[in-house]
Amino acid sequence: MSNAVIVVHYHELWLKGGNRRFFLDKLLAALRQALQGIAIERIEQPGDRVLVRLGENAPLAEALKRIERVLGIAYYAVARPVERSLEALCREAWEEIAPLPFATFAVRAKRSDKSFPHTVTEIETAVGRHLLDQLRAQGRDVRVQLRDPELTCRIEITPGPLLVYARKIPGAGGLPANTAGRMTCLLSGGYDSAVAAYQMMRRGGHLSFVHFYGLGARPGESSLHVASELVRALVRYQFSAKLYRVPFEEIQREIVRSAPEAARVLLYRRMMLRISEVFARRYRALALVTGDSLGQVASQTLRNLVAVEAAASLPIFRPLIGTDKTEILALAQHIGTYAISSEPFHDCCPVFLPRAPELSARPEQLAEAESRLDLAALVAQGLREATLEKFTYTNGRAESAGVIPALRTGERRAATA
Ligand code: ATP
Ligand code: MG
Repeated sequence: MSNAVIVVHYHELWLKGGNRRFFLDKLLAALRQALQGIAIERIEQPGDRVLVRLGENAPLAEALKRIERVLGIAYYAVARPVERSLEALCREAWEEIAPLPFATFAVRAKRSDKSFPHTVTEIETAVGRHLLDQLRAQGRDVRVQLRDPELTCRIEITPGPLLVYARKIPGAGGLPANTAGRMTCLLSGGYDSAVAAYQMMRRGGHLSFVHFYGLGARPGESSLHVASELVRALVRYQFSAKLYRVPFEEIQREIVRSAPEAARVLLYRRMMLRISEVFARRYRALALVTGDSLGQVASQTLRNLVAVEAAASLPIFRPLIGTDKTEILALAQHIGTYAISSEPFHDCCPVFLPRAPELSARPEQLAEAESRLDLAALVAQGLREATLEKFTYTNGRAESAGVIPALRTGERRAATA
């Protein structure tokens, strides 16, 4: 047989009518980018599917692992390309299922090429019969079961090759990367915000990240390396990403000095939003993203979320607002951020934590608490000291281009004035 062929199916893209071509092109671009460095003979689109034909000696397992992360894929499979005859279909179907263990099975055919001289029913019946005969001849105790079989042997009659496969792999789902527009995610080192970012990428968003950090009691304790590692994990889904890193301890001290203790965490959050918005606008983002989940901690009561949000002018998306922590942790495992967020690090927010945090703040009350702060100066200070780390995903690896000042020299000077 020739080199491996991977068949890739999408489904939600169907809904997009006139935009279908746009989504498909993005999916194809994402596949190419994800598979960079792996020899590919060609990528084709017979009917409503994508076929990736790997080159000679291309590492199949690695290719499958990369495709697993490509957003917008409903399912995929390693398929056998078959010559255009019923006999060949029967033969290859048997080759495909013979080594697999199962007690019930069905054959399912799809015919998108109507010029093929057999109907779906004819194909399913002929191949099903052939498989049953072969299985019985081997003394295997199996039967055909159309509803919920343990194994489904799939046949696709495409305008290109005929395909046979029995091991369908669920894809990442969602919409193809970079189809929805730009957003900026407030990324802590914790589990939630990384998962929130993934949820928005999975709906086609392209995200930049802002992380606020303290220095930690000892070197290596800062959350900075955790945030970097999280972006490394996340960039695999969207191929490029910017991480703005903002030292926050001085700003926190300023808040602690002049604002009521109970509202501190909420005021930290409002400052984070203000500074993030500047970076969001530079990146032409239309919204902010956070990992808030209703009621998870004191700062995330409904009233507090609303009171904090009042400091922002961009819309804030909170994809995890109605998600339980256990579900969030399962997703973090799935996308590979769980282990990173589990590393010990110094989170800047618990610093100077109030003994009895406010649970039910009002926006005016927080604005009043801020009246003794020079907000513009604090934002400018955050911007001035911020650094930028750019990441790309190339040849199957997340690479950092190193750390540079977030603002150009002139802008830094302006932020000081
Ligand atoms: P996470 O697990 O994402 O840290 P959390 O449950 O610990 O969330 P909080 O720490 O209260 O919740 O943070 C709420 C949200 O505020 C975070 O999901 C994130 O979007 C933002 N945030 C908190 N701390 C930071 C930080 N140091 N840098 C950037 N964003 C932050
Ligand atoms: Mg946190």
